[in-house]
Amino acid sequence: MSGGDKLDFEIRPNPQPVSAAERAALMANPGFGRIFTDHMVTIRYADGKGWYDARVEARAPIPMDPASAVLHYAQEIFEGLKAYHAADGGVTMFRPDANARRFNASAERMSMAPLPEQVFLDTLHQIIEIDREWVPTSDDSSLYLRPFMFASEVFLGVRPAQEYLYVLIASPVGSYFSGGIKPVALWVSQEYTRAAPGGTGAAKCGGNYAASLAAQAEAIEHGCDQVIFLDAVQRKYVDELGGMNVFFVYDDGTLATPPLSGTILPGITRESVITLARAAGQTVEERPVSIEEWRADAESGRLREVFACGTAAVITPIGTVRTPDGEFVMGDAGPGEVTMSLRQRLVDIQRGRATDPYGWVH
Ligand code: PMP
Repeated sequence: MSGGDKLDFEIRPNPQPVSAAERAALMANPGFGRIFTDHMVTIRYADGKGWYDARVEARAPIPMDPASAVLHYAQEIFEGLKAYHAADGGVTMFRPDANARRFNASAERMSMAPLPEQVFLDTLHQIIEIDREWVPTSDDSSLYLRPFMFASEVFLGVRPAQEYLYVLIASPVGSYFSGGIKPVALWVSQEYTRAAPGGTGAAKCGGNYAASLAAQAEAIEHGCDQVIFLDAVQRKYVDELGGMNVFFVYDDGTLATPPLSGTILPGITRESVITLARAAGQTVEERPVSIEEWRADAESGRLREVFACGTAAVITPIGTVRTPDGEFVMGDAGPGEVTMSLRQRLVDIQRGRATDPYGWVH
């Protein structure tokens, strides 16, 4: 079947899967994004034909023509989400439908073919089913799922490609915080911006990340863990980190986070945090926060906590903020109370330890 909301997958199990002993050794200390499961899912698309040739097969290199459009004009998008080992022995995912929607929003921005949401979800179920043994069982580990899609058409003209390849790979990942949850230091980039109004900031396309690397390198040169980007027009308002959204917690209990203005990624963790905070009676404002306001409120003590959030690190406290003209420090050194309580509520739902009134866990 092709083109519809339901595809039949041809399943060809890997004839040489990693042995149980080797898998256990690899998974003892997986790190992030270095080891991969035995399989991948691929689906092809061509204009006029729709989606076809859906397969689950051994993970392997993808043959590519040197004139494949993605290698020249970067028509590429991706997603990232986690599958968890549940208390009842099953495997759960957190809000995969939101990733499916965002994947298509990214596809639309990059003039790529949309993938039916149900097909996206089916690919996730397929890989979890065949690579179930790769879902880590320890409490702070998970199976990171990486769906992506690129222009596979062999053509050097600059226009939307007429052929795409969707691929899903999976990677067991350990705890992001090997040494416990420590506040991160941020570098405020004055030199580089991430996304301009009308640009691709709200899309999860590879090019955004390529463009962020110079700023991230600058952050590391200045002894910081991550870069925080300011808006591209005034270089005044806080946008987001290279891979996380940001929240401010004030002394009256109010939270603030930059609005979805088109220059930041609409994080699924961001939206979940807003929902959880509001459910607990906290006020959450989606409004621009300037770097000067941040500094003044940190110095006056009105701003109590700042944290970053995303799939990889869940919720990470922010400690030091360094700019070319000096630095300021948030609250006391440790992670704040509101940050840790939101983190706990979120992780408990993700791990199936708390009831999920929102239908987030699949
Ligand atoms: N911003 C950027 C630029 C990101 O790459 C990510 C990670 N996907 C996020 C924010 C957080 O999004 P999510 O909570 O959906 O992981």
